[in-house]
Parts: sequence; structure tokens; C-alpha cells
Amino acid sequence: MPTSEDLDAIVATVHQEMQAHLGEGRVADYIPALARVDPRQFGIAIVTCDGRTAAAGDAETPFSIQSVSKVFTLVLAMNRLDEGLWRRVGREPSGSRFNSIVQLEQERGIPRNPFINAGAIVVTDAVLAGGRPREAIADIAGFMRRLALDEAVSIDPEVAASEEETGFRNASLAYFLRGFDNLQSPVEEVLEVYFNQCALRMTCRQLARAGLFLAQGGLDPLNQIQVTSPERTRRINAIMMTCGHYDASGEFAYRVGLPGKSGVGGGILAIAPRRAAIGVWSPGLCEAGNSLVGQMALQRLVALTGWSVF
Ligand code: GLN
Repeated sequence: MPTSEDLDAIVATVHQEMQAHLGEGRVADYIPALARVDPRQFGIAIVTCDGRTAAAGDAETPFSIQSVSKVFTLVLAMNRLDEGLWRRVGREPSGSRFNSIVQLEQERGIPRNPFINAGAIVVTDAVLAGGRPREAIADIAGFMRRLALDEAVSIDPEVAASEEETGFRNASLAYFLRGFDNLQSPVEEVLEVYFNQCALRMTCRQLARAGLFLAQGGLDPLNQIQVTSPERTRRINAIMMTCGHYDASGEFAYRVGLPGKSGVGGGILAIAPRRAAIGVWSPGLCEAGNSLVGQMALQRLVALTGWSVF
């Protein structure tokens, strides 16, 4: 395990190397509130299992975590439904875009995995469990605040509203799911929760802190809370590795070799098992909808730390 000085130096090197690439990629413009974000930002934060933090760049700037939230709702749904969840959603890489409709039709309403939009909408329905959207949203936000040990974690109402106004594809996916009898709650209620979870605003540091239990068998090492079981933790990491970057998941495993989950806000949460959780953020995206500079930074970080799981 690198010393604190080594980690600080590694993070500073990665930050420095990324300067030449700032602004590369394209910000997500299908959600108007995200299209306005300055693409020339980059942050990185590492929180180790023994409680040290190393951070650089815009690590304290909150951003829209978007699909990174899907990891945390999956934890809540697995804790609630256990194996029953897998009757409603698969766990194979999709090989298609994160919001593909064709695949859902072909597979008769059972989404390929919990990280593509259709799968995440099913997971959100499982978290909602027939209850009230406002309460489910408060539960998800409260879960994130507890994990991040930070009351400042919030939901950006402007982003949530912007998604709702333009979320026709997600609405289509949800109606399809409902048509195949794979949603329990009304479509509008499930989407309300989904858009709000995607609109969670967090910093790289908060995100790394919140994901740390995934590096430590489900036990949050800093406050000694067992967030989920060791077995579920292994499985969530496996799904992050195989499906966390949509149809570029193979590329991410090849280049970085860590379980990771991206979001179209430009954030990535990566897990180095038994070592650390890492939050990176840079808004410009690659073709598949993952942070371009974020992926580069993680590739360099793993090269410098030797933290690949392979
Ligand atoms: N809120 C986004 C959507 O539903 C999340 C997609 C993503 O981050 N990949 O389209």
C-alpha cells in the first residue's frame, strides 16, 4: 500500500498529466441542465480503507452523479429483495447503448443488467416498493449522506426537472417495462424517483467516501456500518466490472481493470478491492457516454499504484 506521501504524489501526477486533455470529449447535451457545465474541469479523490484521503483538481466541486447512483440503488434493492431481484433484471453486459429500447423489446421486458437505464428503472421500482416517491427519494438521499458522512449531499432540483422535461426515452423504457408487467408502481412515480436519484449532487471526495464499503466486503471501515453482505458486495463489484461502462465495459476492464460505474455527468466511481475507493470527474464524454478524461486518469492511476485486480 502506498504511503500517504506516495498517494499525494501519484494524485498530483495524474492531475498534472490530465491538464493537456481538459475539454476533450462532449458534455451530455440531451439533458439541457448538463449541457451548460464547463467541460474543462477535472477532479480526483481517493479514500483508502485505512481512512486516508488524497485529492487533486476540482475534487470539492459538486457535480451531477447521474448513473453512478445506480450502484447505490442496486445495494438498496438487493438488501430488500435479495435473489428475487434477478427474476426482474439480468446481469449480463448489454453490448448496446445505455438507453437502448430495441434490446428491451427483444428480451421481453427483462433488462439485460441493472446499470443500463431500463435495468436501473426496474431497480428503482424495487426501491420504491409501492410506496410514496417523496419518501423513496428522501431514503436514497439519506443513504448517500450517511455513506458520504456529509449532510451537504443534495439533489439538484434543476437537473431533476430538466431530465423530466426531456426524458421521453426513459419514459418509453418505463412504459415498455410496465407493458411487460415488470414495474409495480405507476410509471410517473418510478420516473420521479429515477430522475431525482440521477440528480444527486456530490463531489469526488463524497463519492469515493460513499463507495468505500464496496472495497471492504460491504463494511464501511470508517464508521463500522455493515452496509451490505460480503457476498452481495462481491456480486455488485462483478456487475460494475462487466456492465459499469455500458458497451465500453470491456474497454474499461482492459485499460483500468477495476470495478467502476460511470454517469453522463462525467463522474466515475472505481473500487480497488481491499485498498480504496476512487471518485473522478471530468464532464467531457466518449462515444459510449463515459467520462473521457476520467477513464484516462484511472488508467494512469492504476499504472502508478498497481491496483488493477488482474
Ligand atoms: N439520467 C441519465 C438518463 O437517464 C443517466 C444516464 C447515464 O448517466 N448514463 O439518461
